Amino acid sequence: MTEAAPATHNRLQWRILIGFVAGLAAGLLTYTLAPGAPWVETVVTYVTGPIGQIFLRLLFMLVIPLLFSALVVGIADMGELKSLKAIGLKTLGYTVAVSAIAVAISLAVVNVIRPGDGVDPAVAADMLAAGGEGAAGIVAASANTEAGVGLLVNIVPNNIIAAMSANDILAVMFFALFFGIGLLLVQTPRTAVLKDAIEGVFDVAMRLIGLVIQLAPIAIFCFMFNLSAQFGWDLLVRLAAYVAVVLLALALQMFGVFPLLLKFGANKSPLAFFRQTREASVMAFSTASSNATLPTALRVAEHELKLPPRISRFVLTIGATANQNGTAMFEGVTVLFLAQFFGVDLSLAQQGFVMLVCILAGIGTAGVPGGSLPVVALILSGVGVPPEGIGLILGVDRFLDMCRTTLNVVGDLVAAQVISARSGDVAASA
Ligand code: ASP
Repeated sequence: MTEAAPATHNRLQWRILIGFVAGLAAGLLTYTLAPGAPWVETVVTYVTGPIGQIFLRLLFMLVIPLLFSALVVGIADMGELKSLKAIGLKTLGYTVAVSAIAVAISLAVVNVIRPGDGVDPAVAADMLAAGGEGAAGIVAASANTEAGVGLLVNIVPNNIIAAMSANDILAVMFFALFFGIGLLLVQTPRTAVLKDAIEGVFDVAMRLIGLVIQLAPIAIFCFMFNLSAQFGWDLLVRLAAYVAVVLLALALQMFGVFPLLLKFGANKSPLAFFRQTREASVMAFSTASSNATLPTALRVAEHELKLPPRISRFVLTIGATANQNGTAMFEGVTVLFLAQFFGVDLSLAQQGFVMLVCILAGIGTAGVPGGSLPVVALILSGVGVPPEGIGLILGVDRFLDMCRTTLNVVGDLVAAQVISARSGDVAASA
């Protein structure tokens, strides 16, 4: 695989961090000195907004070829069905177990602190009104989101081109898995050429993403500017208890559960791990998209954590959509928060239902900014809470999205580290 030299890479990490801090500072300064000034909206609409969008679109453009080739080659490289089965089952078992821990933590925290009881009704009315249109759109979109058996059936695409054009990542992953198994089953000189060619697609996609990532510092400056120039800290303060509970739950998983998994599951120093995965964290935080961060996560796994590509490619590409601890936690906290706010008492059985749905939702939520919102709307109607209530949290969602996506991506890397170690094939466990 062609890669930028590590020194160039380190410089990029710094430039990304500088872009991040500078964007945040510039935005907060603008918000403080010129609150609500019309030129701010012009800058966001015509300059910083489009730059950020173009950056994300460039990444999304490369996600399908990357995801397809990484999964197919990852599976084909396993050499035989037996090892695919072993790693696949480990990944599945790990995902379900760790997501269950995550959701249990989030439900426990929200039940103990009960942030929904403390929201000022006048402030809430304002926020619901402000979120009105956006909330209605999300609720309408959630009607098209499949739940239950439909979700399961839809994982199998009936037309792979349609699935790709609809950006239906779960269905594309299914096809790639199936195709990879086909390559494992038919090992002839011709399929060897095909596998080489698909590996070529992977190399090209990674190289192109390497080019796009050079734009990251500018794009991240724009993301942070847009966010802080428009909202400042205001919204965060108004929904402080809710934001704090989400952050507390995420932090417990990130700094409590993950280090334990790393230490006892992979014999890896958590500090070294967090240092080596810094670039992926910053990328996830700034883009709020697991899919957009996938290329960075793949590179970090191979070059920094030195994990075996056949495992890291498999676990990370599947994990970017299917192992979203942060998303599952966020969905749990939000549903219970809104239930508390609307005075809907959820029985233990209903909370159990929420927990189960959140674990599944962590698997089914798209790894794109705001991917959770339709799912939250869906769960809300499932337990009898008005789904429009989502308008209450829309203002702070972008910030929380950045935080939960970071947990999603770090969680995938933890999974890759643990599963590599458990498969007895980790290169170095520094
Ligand atoms: N933005 C999240 C991700 O890409 C999904 C979500 O929770 O909205 O991982």
